[in-house]
Amino acid sequence: MRQFAIIGLGRFGSSIASTLYSLGYDVLAIDKNEERVEDISDRVTHAVQADATDEAAIRTLGLRNFDVAVVTIGNDIQASIMVTMLCKELGIPKVLAKAQGDLHAKVLLKVGADRVVFPERDMGVRVAHNLVSSSIVDF
Ligand code: ATP
Repeated sequence: MRQFAIIGLGRFGSSIASTLYSLGYDVLAIDKNEERVEDISDRVTHAVQADATDEAAIRTLGLRNFDVAVVTIGNDIQASIMVTMLCKELGIPKVLAKAQGDLHAKVLLKVGADRVVFPERDMGVRVAHNLVSSSIVDF
């Protein structure tokens, strides 16, 4: 059974965390904001309040035993980069990170991210494809 750690519980991170949990996976959800941790606590396996840039704190959470980490911190680019790097240093095999722009994405890849996503951009591409897909081409 794969174990997922979701770091950052904005709309994107919360949606990933609760969806994985509803699919039956083990999900650890982390945010530095207590309210966001409380909001998701009954929709994940464990929800923990912690600053993920604090190496000692994330070591204590046993993050190195997880198969996948998703870093969905976006606005604080420095934190996003540090946490992505820490996750790779801990030896997490697959780290996916959210980027705000191309340069941010480049740095995330340099510090070891296995995959970088741009939620709004990626969703825009999907919606555009759906709009011209055969079923709704005439609307
Ligand atoms: P979204 O677009 O997914 O709704 P957002 O607009 O709320 O996200 P972001 O800056 O992308 O804001 O942050 C996502 C979450 O990451 C926030 O809930 C924030 O508290 C959390 N976060 C930011 N820095 C850290 C950190 N160092 N450790 C843990 N969580 C953090």
